[in-house]
Amino acid sequence: MGGVTIGEPIFGRLALIGVGLIGSSIARAARATGAVRSIAATAQSGATRRRVAELGIADQVAETNAAAVEGADFVIVCVPVGQCGAVAQEIGPRLKAGAIVSDVGSVKGSVVKDMSPHLPAGVHFVPAHPVAGTEHSGPDAGFAELFVDRWCILTPPDNADPRAVEKVAEFWRRLGSNVDTMGIEHHDLVLAITSHVPHLIAYTIVGTADDLETVTRSEVMKFSAGGFRDFTRIAASDPTMWRDVFLHNRDAVLEMLGRFNEDVAALARAIRWGDGEALFNLFTRTRAIRRGIVQIGQDSPAPDFGRPHPSLTHEPLPRPYAADSE
Ligand code: NAP
Repeated sequence: MGGVTIGEPIFGRLALIGVGLIGSSIARAARATGAVRSIAATAQSGATRRRVAELGIADQVAETNAAAVEGADFVIVCVPVGQCGAVAQEIGPRLKAGAIVSDVGSVKGSVVKDMSPHLPAGVHFVPAHPVAGTEHSGPDAGFAELFVDRWCILTPPDNADPRAVEKVAEFWRRLGSNVDTMGIEHHDLVLAITSHVPHLIAYTIVGTADDLETVTRSEVMKFSAGGFRDFTRIAASDPTMWRDVFLHNRDAVLEMLGRFNEDVAALARAIRWGDGEALFNLFTRTRAIRRGIVQIGQDSPAPDFGRPHPSLTHEPLPRPYAADSE
């Protein structure tokens, strides 16, 4: 095994606004792959800023969002989607001419609507969504391999500078991601069914189980391997982030939830009428989807942490936190 393979930096100075799971993973991966020359970072609270300084994952920890973007060529806003507009307002006047601004929000329509008015002419806005995550949050939760073999979706506006879009794509490819481009509305619809509604279902089932009067909480925990456990992992996801996702992707989530409710009603009818064929046919179709996901490498028995990084020829980076991620 050799050392780290460092490519030519794609950007000079990267500014990260928000250093939680996603921001700190970007910091670690950008440094490990040499994607940028230096990193400035900031977060909302003094406690997180101090922790980022202790972890040493940024070259500079700034006290304010505005100070963090000073002189930055590439700015990535990594905060809950409900905060994106306010952050854009703070950083807008301090952005360097020609800088590229991006984000990682799980919703694109509201983020683009909230951020765009605050970004000055001469600054390129290339919204992005890395479709990768765990149920953990905060700067200790991140790891450099998070984005490896995961998709990053770019939703550039029609008038975006193609060179800016390509640089952002190149950055995410360097971090190990595959890159796709999509329209904003389509992104929000696709993510509603692949991510947002599944999280809502997990939150619901775990809440329902907790509310039961005839089954005790200790029984729910003791027998959780029967299926419940997998829902609890998703339902442990960050409450602030997910509150914001549902409030900001309301229409697409309600559309998909409506269809889901119809399908649950049809399943309930099949159970009531003893229609085993309907149940068997559906379960056969869904099993094929699971196998397809495994086949294209979007899930494996191994947790995301520790997967090999295409730009790294050494062993996986030391795990930055003690808790199990998956
Ligand atoms: P997180 O771990 O909770 O981190 C959020 C970070 O944002 C924290 O550092 C927080 O600072 C900071 N922050 C919040 N408001 C701020 C403000 N007004 N100014 C500056 N910093 C602020 O969240 P995350 O999981 O990294 O998620 C960040 C974004 O990534 C969200 O938009 C989410 O939709 C998106 N995303 C998440 C996942 C996932 O699985 N988690 C996957 C893809 C995309 P403090 O710690 O001081 O509060």
